[in-house]
Amino acid sequence: MDNKLKNLILVLNCGSSSIKFAILDPKNKKKYLYGIVECLFLSNTYVKWTCLKKQYNKKIGSHINHKDALNFIIDHILLKQKSICQKIIGIGHRVVHGGNQIKQSILIDDYVIDCIKNATCFAPLHNPANLIGIKTIIKKYSILSNFNVAVFDTSFYQNMPETSFLYAIPYKFYKKHGIRRYGAHGISHNYIAHEMGIILNKKFNSLNIITCHLGNGCSISAICNGICVDTSMGLTPLEGLVMGTRSGDIDPSIIFFMHKQLNISIDKIEMILNKQSGLLGLSEISSDFRYFEKAYNLEKAAKRSVQVFCHRLSKYISGYMSLMENRLDAVVFTGGIGENVSLIRELTFSKLALLNFKIDLKLNYLTVGGKSGLITESRSRPVFVIATNEELAIAQETINIINKK
Ligand code: ADP
Repeated sequence: MDNKLKNLILVLNCGSSSIKFAILDPKNKKKYLYGIVECLFLSNTYVKWTCLKKQYNKKIGSHINHKDALNFIIDHILLKQKSICQKIIGIGHRVVHGGNQIKQSILIDDYVIDCIKNATCFAPLHNPANLIGIKTIIKKYSILSNFNVAVFDTSFYQNMPETSFLYAIPYKFYKKHGIRRYGAHGISHNYIAHEMGIILNKKFNSLNIITCHLGNGCSISAICNGICVDTSMGLTPLEGLVMGTRSGDIDPSIIFFMHKQLNISIDKIEMILNKQSGLLGLSEISSDFRYFEKAYNLEKAAKRSVQVFCHRLSKYISGYMSLMENRLDAVVFTGGIGENVSLIRELTFSKLALLNFKIDLKLNYLTVGGKSGLITESRSRPVFVIATNEELAIAQETINIINKK
């Protein structure tokens, strides 16, 4: 097919336990095909996808790994749509951590693959999955092997000031070993910040906002004059807010206590803090917010978990207001929880009345299910909900890089 007729990008987002995929036109934003593989490594790995508005759902097998799931997506979903696939001009991969070697989106070659591998220590749950996605696709989709682009979550934080990214540990650990705050979820924070600029009709470099991405992973960023001046995720995506299964902020001495007093190995502690903590750890029942919404008024464990979640979030929002110089244009919520759970928004801002936030209960209740909008009363500081679209952001970056080739 003539290259001029090719206008679609395949986007792959290989997470630790799921794979999201989409084929879309980055210019007119139309999604031709999108889907998700869930429950990798569990007994019921399945894939849900939508193609030209038709929905499908299929069990792939049990204990399926990333590579097999990707092979399934390519052979049984993508290649069945020949007329769409023929128009793919490039492949965009979400990569969580670029480490200290890669700062911006980049065409993938052996050097880039090595850098992503080197940054695995900073995103141990994510970078290995991202790499499997990249390698499998390059091999399987060999006609496009020179058109794979890595888009990094860490890019958005490159201009963060030293005062925000340094930890107060001996300076040599930063200088020699790169221990600093890198941030994560930057693709989403950047996307909703630009959307907010459009809604508020403001130039990006004059935008002062606080963006909250609340999904399975949760993070918050302070953006002042269009530059991210602080963010809650740190050296790895473990720091910051309470998450589905990640602890977020803890006193580092808890690790010494678990290790020295309780004889728990360092590997096990890493697993506990990443996979058994957060909402799952607090409730001892679930990490899925649909459960907490239903159980909030019925189960003590659900209430306590949600209250810890909102307490941490409101502390961050009020703290980040101090970084806004003289003006806050808006606070923005996004992600599966941020977009859908009105309870979280209501509880979080009920703690911030002193800072002049007042949620409009009706607007808040109506703004769910991917709807965007203002959810505060007219006298309040503005809070918006904006649906994130990481796939579109990755596709747009990918086409920009390919066009420079
Ligand atoms: P990821 O970080 O994996 O991209 P998502 O942004 O999809 O995560 O968010 C997943 C979280 O959002 C889960 O806790 C899920 O329960 C919650 N969530 C998604 N949709 C809804 C909904 N309609 N109502 C309540 N919670 C939801």
